[in-house]
Amino acid sequence: METAERIKNIPPYLFAQIDKLKAEKIAQGVDVINLGIGDPDLPTPKNIIDALNKASLDSKNHRYPTYSGLLELRSAIAEWYKKRFKVELNPEDEVLGLIGSKEGIAHIFLAYINPGDWTLVSDPGYPVYKIGTLLAGGIPYSLPLKRENNFLPDFKSIPSKIVKKAKIIFVNYPHNPTAATAEIEDFQKLVDFAQENGLIVCHDAAYSEVTFDGYTADSFLQAKGAKDVGVEFHSLSKTYNMTGWRIGWVCGNSKIISDLSVVKTNIDSGIFQALQYAGIEALRGSQDNIKIIRRVYKRRRDLVVKGLNELGWEITPPKATFYIWAEVPEGWTSREFATYLLDKTGVLVPPGVGYGDYGEGSFRISLTISDERLKEALKRMKEAKIYKK
Ligand SMILES: *Cc1c(COP(=O)(O)O)cnc(C)c1O
Repeated sequence: METAERIKNIPPYLFAQIDKLKAEKIAQGVDVINLGIGDPDLPTPKNIIDALNKASLDSKNHRYPTYSGLLELRSAIAEWYKKRFKVELNPEDEVLGLIGSKEGIAHIFLAYINPGDWTLVSDPGYPVYKIGTLLAGGIPYSLPLKRENNFLPDFKSIPSKIVKKAKIIFVNYPHNPTAATAEIEDFQKLVDFAQENGLIVCHDAAYSEVTFDGYTADSFLQAKGAKDVGVEFHSLSKTYNMTGWRIGWVCGNSKIISDLSVVKTNIDSGIFQALQYAGIEALRGSQDNIKIIRRVYKRRRDLVVKGLNELGWEITPPKATFYIWAEVPEGWTSREFATYLLDKTGVLVPPGVGYGDYGEGSFRISLTISDERLKEALKRMKEAKIYKK
């Protein structure tokens, strides 16, 4: 059995080593606190569950759904964009339903990347941008996101040879894993760069509603000319605690939407229709859940930032996402630090290098675990004298 090159080319799973140590610790009876899971621990709001239950009883929803999603769902998405971002979208051809945004993110490369084509992908970043490129036979260029640039791309630093060969630039704000945010001017620079170089922009806005302290995230589509060059991926997963349900969308440029639809109609058959009705309820019904998640993650954010700062870190509370991106103490690699921390305290954090080479030197903490467990993790770090300096 000879595995295909495209699978062999996928880099080794970077958390394999730490997962092995975690399994050993659990086998030894250690109470491991996993701060690595970026998956909301709070339940999906009841109005959304009720909508699914009701729709699931109707046999018309048991059949193959329409490929691009019910027009009613696409209209609800367009209305939400108008209300939330003042962005106009035509639900007919500028919105496409996805089986979770990850599905669309992975598939978009098949629509544009020929073997040997390059993409520019956020590094550190959500691993799917890079792997999706590789699965399509393309070559990902790591777009360095550096702390000194507030984790925004420095377009001038990209070799012009690479820019010429690149077809897609993939970015994500509010950003997983660094929690960085981008303003409308940053998106404008991105659109200008894409226009100058004939690039397609893919922006991943999964965390646009997970924001704190009065900050509101902009949509990439608010930038002038954005719809001429790109699309925005979005999802109900993080906003409504629906990661397991698998529903998201992509919106923006109609040509890109139509090309991605060709890939999708030949691979999947759309989102379960009852779930689409639940999605409509999520977008049109009560938005109280957003207030709840903001309050809960902010409380946990403050607790973790305060705890780490008492141990010598100097972290500014992030304005968005449910992640804290912290530097490892001097003299350690991120993997050495994560291994030491797990070994000494049973606290598991993903090493930054797992999100790309430029994630080296940092680690990520997820706030999707109870306050008690976060406090316990910080207490164990203090007892083990794990200080930043
Ligand atoms: C969670 C996450 C997604 C995936 O969301 P789904 O809609 O559940 O597939 C996409 N992008 C980023 C950056 C994420 O963290």
